[in-house]
Parts: sequence; C-alpha cells; structure tokens
Amino acid sequence: MLEVVVIGAGIAGCSTALALWERGAAVTLVEKSRPGAAATGASAGMIVAQYESGGPDEKFRLCLEARTRYPEFAAKLEELSGHQLYLRWDGMLVANLSDEEHEEAAATLRWQRQAGLEAEILEPGAAAKLQPGVGVGAVSYLWFPEEGQLDSQRLAAALGDAIARTGIRLISGNGVAEIVSSGGQVTGVVMADGRTLEAERVVLAAGAWSGTIGGLPRELPVRPVRGQIARFPSKTLALRPIVASHAGRYLVPRADGTVLAGSTMEDVGFDRAITEAGLQVIHESVSQLLPGMARLKPIEHWAGLRPISADSSPIIGPDPELDGLVYATGYGRDGIVLGPLAGAIVAELVLTGASRHDWRPFRADRFAAR
Ligand SMILES: Cc1cc2nc3c(=O)[nH]c(=O)nc-3n(C[C@H](O)[C@H](O)[C@H](O)COP(=O)(O)OP(=O)(O)OC[C@H]3O[C@@H](n4cnc5c(N)ncnc54)[C@H](O)[C@@H]3O)c2cc1C
Repeated sequence: MLEVVVIGAGIAGCSTALALWERGAAVTLVEKSRPGAAATGASAGMIVAQYESGGPDEKFRLCLEARTRYPEFAAKLEELSGHQLYLRWDGMLVANLSDEEHEEAAATLRWQRQAGLEAEILEPGAAAKLQPGVGVGAVSYLWFPEEGQLDSQRLAAALGDAIARTGIRLISGNGVAEIVSSGGQVTGVVMADGRTLEAERVVLAAGAWSGTIGGLPRELPVRPVRGQIARFPSKTLALRPIVASHAGRYLVPRADGTVLAGSTMEDVGFDRAITEAGLQVIHESVSQLLPGMARLKPIEHWAGLRPISADSSPIIGPDPELDGLVYATGYGRDGIVLGPLAGAIVAELVLTGASRHDWRPFRADRFAAR
C-alpha cells in the first residue's frame, strides 16, 4: 500500500484523503487544529462557477466541471458522514448597480452563452418576481439559474465525521513543521512535536498556511486573505436565490431561514479578528442588496482566511523537482466548489502520476517563469 501523508484537513485535504482512501492508499491526514475549522468552515458555501469568472479560461472550466460533479460528491459525503448538506440549486442574482456594471454583465452574458451556459439579464421588476425585496437602485440584474450552494458549516462537520468513519488515520491538534526528503525524493514529514512520519508521498493542503511549512523546494506564493461574514435572522424575508454584487458581496440563504452576508477581502496576514469596519462593509451591502434586511442585527459573525495564490488560480499537481510532493492548495475564493474535483485529480496524480484532467495550467512552477 502506498503511504501518503496529507497536510491539512480543510476541504482540500479531506477531499484528497477520501479519494486516496477510496482507491486503496494508506492515508495519514495531519491537522494542526481540527478538520474543517479554518477557511472551509468559515465559508459561505456557494457552489458557483459563472459568478466572478473573468472569461472562458482554464480556471473557469475547472470550476464548471467541479460544479457539475458536486451532487455526486455531496451524496457520497452525506452517506458516509450521516450529515445533511442542504445542497440546492436556486440560482444567483447579481445586481448591476451602474451602467458600467450593466455593460460588464452584457459582455459576461455573451461569452457565457457562447460557452453553452444559461444566463440572462433581467429588468429590476423581473428580478423582484424571482426574489421579492431586492434593491430598487439596480440598473438590471444578471441571473445565473444554475448556480447553487450548500451549508458549509455542515460540510466542515461532515468532512471530519466522514474521515472518522474511514480507514484514514487522522492526527489532529498537531501540525507538520517540515517536509523531509532525501536525494530529491520525499521521505515523510516532521511534526511540530518532533515526531517523524514516514511517507512515499506528501500532499500539501494546508490552505493559507501552505507556504509556511519547512522543507518546501520552492517559494509557494499563497497568502491569507481575510473574509468576514455575518449571519442574519431573516425569518420575515424568505430568500431563495443567492443575491450578490459585482463587488464580491453576497447574501446566501440557509435552510433554517437565516441569511449569511459576506464578505470582505482583507490583506491582514494571519489575523482572523472580526472588526467594526468589516461589519460595516457587510451591513452596507445588505442594505443595498436587500433593503428589507437593513434593520436586522446579525446574530453571529466570524472570519476566515482564504488561501489566495499570486495569480488567484489553484496550485495543483506534483512538484517538478521534489519527487513525491504534490500540491492541493491556493483555491482562493473558490475552494468549496473546487475542492472535491481537485481532490480527485490530486489523488489520481499521487497514485498514477497522471490525470484525465488537464492540471498543467495549475502547476506549481508556473510562478517561477514570471
Ligand atoms: C469568508 C469566506 C467565504 C468563502 N465563501 C466561499 C464560497 O462561498 N464558495 C467557495 O467555493 N469558496 C469560498 N471560500 C473559499 C474557501 O473557503 C476556501 O478556498 C477553502 O475552504 C480552502 O480550503 P483549504 O482546505 O485549502 O483550506 P482550509 O479550509 O483553511 O484548511 C487548511 C487546513 O490546514 C491546516 N493546517 C495549516 N497548517 C498546517 C500544518 N502545518 N500542519 C497541519 N495542518 C495545517 C489548517 O488548520 C486548516 O484546517 C470562502 C472563504 C472565506 C474565508
């Protein structure tokens, strides 16, 4: 059996570990805190591919395929973990708040329709039929009927419980300090407590912390970008689709009637604090997108650190110089949607050295050439 150590138990590491275990590898998953406790559990859980995609590039295609395959992954995870994930496909309304945004939306519509996707521009009145209460100030709305979401806090719990029901060995509360190698081949990891774990393959899936681990053969340009989120009690205003803005703010309905509102993008290092300024930004976008919620007070708030790479695309695949080291990181704003597909690709690469998917646009040495 191939011995594999996976570093980090967010969606990146857990998906990879599960895919490796399914295919018969001996997997040890090392987590410095607990599974799902970082960006994965902090996220909004949008399973979106069309929103915020800049054009028909490789990342867009990866997100699209990841979205298409999500139901299969979610069903398997629900069965394995016993948790319901509330995956739903109620679409996404994006407010075009100025003429420029309307033009941008029209351009998005053109290339996405050429790519065979469903998208529509709606007059505010038509948008209000889809979602009563949306702001009156918008010029128009971009409607993506195929976007979806799940409950990401349930997802985080489900990943941990699913791992516990497999033969994967989970070491939590103890991080990896260093990846060790000999003669250009990975031999294992050294833990924070000094213990060594031997392995033929090591998967680096430590989210925003990926670049901080010792023994890496290259500088890994992944940085933490803080996002703050608030949960609102919205029993009065039933929200069905996700409602979002071009500025990256969104309202995401949850099965219990509450609404998650996010999020900020803050370059503040490894600081997960909630701030007044962050909550103010969220509150302003809530008022703009769904004015009926403006007077509501959040019942909960939190922050997480997105692992953002230097070009905002994921870093996937084997290191070209250090044999046995494979990356599954840098998923940025899209880790919940990308995680399961990327995990399946990484597992294929670990086990066979090849994948049916074109992972090369995401290889780790692309930054060296810049
Ligand atoms: C506010 C917010 C909203 C978001 N909304 C969405 C969304 O709607 N849709 C979407 O697709 N994406 C969203 N994202 C992005 C998504 O959450 C991330 O891309 C994804 O969770 C990254 O997963 P990961 O496993 O790489 O990282 P993480 O979930 O952060 O997991 C990394 C794990 O590695 C562990 N670790 C770190 N260092 C070590 C070490 N040395 N040894 C062992 N373990 C270590 C950490 O403790 C952590 O548990 C959002 C993110 C935020 C912050």
